[in-house]
Amino acid sequence: MPPTTLSNPTDPIDALLSAHGLRRTGAARRVLGWLLAHPDISYTHAQLQTALQSDSMPDGQGENAATLDRVTLYRLIDRLTQVGLLLCRVDANRVRRYQAMPASVHALPHFECQSCHRDQPLQGALQGNAFDLEVAAQNALQALNALGYQGLSLDLAVRGVCADCATAATITRIHETAS
Ligand SMILES: [Zn+2]
Repeated sequence: MPPTTLSNPTDPIDALLSAHGLRRTGAARRVLGWLLAHPDISYTHAQLQTALQSDSMPDGQGENAATLDRVTLYRLIDRLTQVGLLLCRVDANRVRRYQAMPASVHALPHFECQSCHRDQPLQGALQGNAFDLEVAAQNALQALNALGYQGLSLDLAVRGVCADCATAATITRIHETAS
């Protein structure tokens, strides 16, 4: 018997879906559940589909066994993003990536390295400035919300070359000059 085929009113994923006016379908619970369980990873459509497929029970029945078709997955991701449950970012290759919206913040300042393609939060590096950015973002979203805008999300991405890559490039240059 698969684990939670029936909707459980106390299930946090069901609660989130209901609170955002979404139907608590098996597919919706699966996608949101997966992203909430992997909050630090942002997935492309294809990566998410692969991850969900490998997650399904080989001998399972019901929602976990069903293959989520691409169109359903795309629609679902769009809906979840529209209501603000997912954060959508466009990476350096202009591919959309999705991750669970961080609960405490609407916009998490992050840095996307154009060299190693690592995506790292900026709280550590920016400290107080990162908090100021978050507060400014929250205020902007609240102001828009008050004007009737809905399903808001905001992406605070800084793009460039990270310190590690910059250092590596400098060392390479020094070696090249020396040899
Ligand atoms: Zn880098």
